[in-house]
Amino acid sequence: MIDANPRRSELRESLTRVRERISLACQSAGRDPDDITLVVVTKFFPASDVVLLSHLGVTDVGENRDQEAGHKSMEVRHILEEPPRWHFVGQLQTNKAASVAGYADVVHSVDRLRLVTALEKGAAKAGRTLEVLLQVDLEQGTERGRGGAAPEAIGELAAAVAKTQHLILRGAMTVAPRETPARPAFQRLESLAHELRREHPQADWISAGMSGDLEEAIACGATHLRVGTAILGARPPVR
Ligand SMILES: *Cc1c(COP(=O)(O)O)cnc(C)c1O
Repeated sequence: MIDANPRRSELRESLTRVRERISLACQSAGRDPDDITLVVVTKFFPASDVVLLSHLGVTDVGENRDQEAGHKSMEVRHILEEPPRWHFVGQLQTNKAASVAGYADVVHSVDRLRLVTALEKGAAKAGRTLEVLLQVDLEQGTERGRGGAAPEAIGELAAAVAKTQHLILRGAMTVAPRETPARPAFQRLESLAHELRREHPQADWISAGMSGDLEEAIACGATHLRVGTAILGARPPVR
């Protein structure tokens, strides 16, 4: 298709490829692609990309740094009548929680009690409600963690979220280990998510799968994929 805006054609093509991967993986897993939310992780990329993505039908975007996300969401709000839903997917410092509660719709990275308290306070102050996922660290001890609570701590965290007024517990999230295959981690997350749902029936989201492992995540019940590179291209190295 001819498009005067090269970035738009690029994003359209990469988005189509990712949607095809999702649809194929759903076919093999016997799942309905409508049950999967694609969260496009736009960190390091400008607000103009979020606008283009929104015009291409993207409804959910993810960010992992508070300052960047805050600015970008404000910029986008001025341009789009129907801005996307903002997902905060990165490790979150307690002192940034109030800020994040001001613009994020979903926080995927709740991993400690102090963060629950800080997000609840921030959401109350902003007069907002946040959907939250509990991030599980499935590689404890093997490598420096990528954030997340120990699997044993999830029950207590869930109970704390359930007691708040402004946070809604929606499920569990993980980032697959870097060095080992993703599937065992995603299977472990799926079973933890099932346990969580027994106590908290509305917590039926599973956030797993990124550019490199979205097929495995779909096979293991993921409802939310967080895909950056495969859609936006390479980012500068972070750490
Ligand atoms: C950056 C990031 C992603 C996206 O990763 P890609 O490999 O670029 O798809 C997903 N989840 C989290 C928590 C991230 O920080």
